[in-house]
Amino acid sequence: MSDAYCIQINETGGPDILTKVPVEPREPGPGEALIRQSAIGLNFIDTYFRTGLYPAKLPFTPGQEAAGTVSAIGEGVKNLNVGDRVAYLGSGTYATHFTGPAARMIKLPDGISEEDAAATLLKGLTAWMLLFEIRRASPGETALVWAPSGGVGSLLVPWATSMGVRVLAVTSTEEKAELARKAGADQVIFSHEDVAGRVRALTGGKGVDVSYDSVGKSSAKASLDSLKPRGWWMTYGNASGAVEPLSPGELNRRGSLVMTRPGLYHFIAQDEDWRRGSAALLGALKTGTIKAQVGQTFPLDKAADAHRALEGRQTTGSTLLTP
Ligand code: NDP
Repeated sequence: MSDAYCIQINETGGPDILTKVPVEPREPGPGEALIRQSAIGLNFIDTYFRTGLYPAKLPFTPGQEAAGTVSAIGEGVKNLNVGDRVAYLGSGTYATHFTGPAARMIKLPDGISEEDAAATLLKGLTAWMLLFEIRRASPGETALVWAPSGGVGSLLVPWATSMGVRVLAVTSTEEKAELARKAGADQVIFSHEDVAGRVRALTGGKGVDVSYDSVGKSSAKASLDSLKPRGWWMTYGNASGAVEPLSPGELNRRGSLVMTRPGLYHFIAQDEDWRRGSAALLGALKTGTIKAQVGQTFPLDKAADAHRALEGRQTTGSTLLTP
């Protein structure tokens, strides 16, 4: 009997609705590969789909990224062989197996484990999008980074500082503050403090050039209050809830601010963008500019505990699920 299973969502709600369901892996069609998964990356977006904040057709299997070993390939696949180790983005990765397009699977070089790849692919590409694609970060500028020791944050902080950016990091606990300092943050501000007031004090009254804001509802005002004229508010997540609507006139009144609400998938939709992003990420891992930070690992069938920990701000770095 097969040990294959997936985690399914039959109705949106709290972590307890994540249900283990036996399933036969789908044989790969033309251009596809079947992967025996070894590590699945947990992302905050998985919780948005689970709660229904982001709509999805029910029932579905959550999960956006994973890594594993190719166990079969479909007709016409040229870039992979059975036994290759790969990482990929795809929908429905909370499973022991995954079948998807081989062209979008990255063959892992020696020295990058499946665990490290699953911990860094989606989150590292997000950092790349923020630092290079939306607007290139420049040496000498100052950035406010929210959740600096989280999955995205623990990659964003060292990558930004390697580019000569001064990072002011906003977090909730002393333990997380220490991780942010170790990653290169110049100063740490606690989220219960007057964040914008501290930013003004730390920047000689000027404010920051950019706020990389993944927190959303509860951080929006402090982000806007912290920016210098013509500064950028990159509001890229909703960890505390969706951001309230904002009038364009408000951006003008505050000094011609730029607001963007990016989504990674728009930045990697074209094959050439995907190749550029994944090459930049593998390059940054190879040089040691960024390092996979696996803070905690849960068995896949305990995904509910992983969701509770992530939503409860109990995690640091990336979280993995292992089948
Ligand atoms: P994290 O590991 O960063 O976990 C979320 C962190 O947000 C928490 O640890 C906590 O850090 C902080 N936080 C602040 N307020 C809250 C709250 N009320 N509830 C929960 N957490 C809170 O998660 P990920 O790395 O997976 O994702 C980070 C963010 O990036 C998410 O918002 C996600 O949606 C976004 N994202 C966006 C993408 C895009 O394409 N736009 C792609 C990938 C991720 P602290 O205690 O330090 O405050």
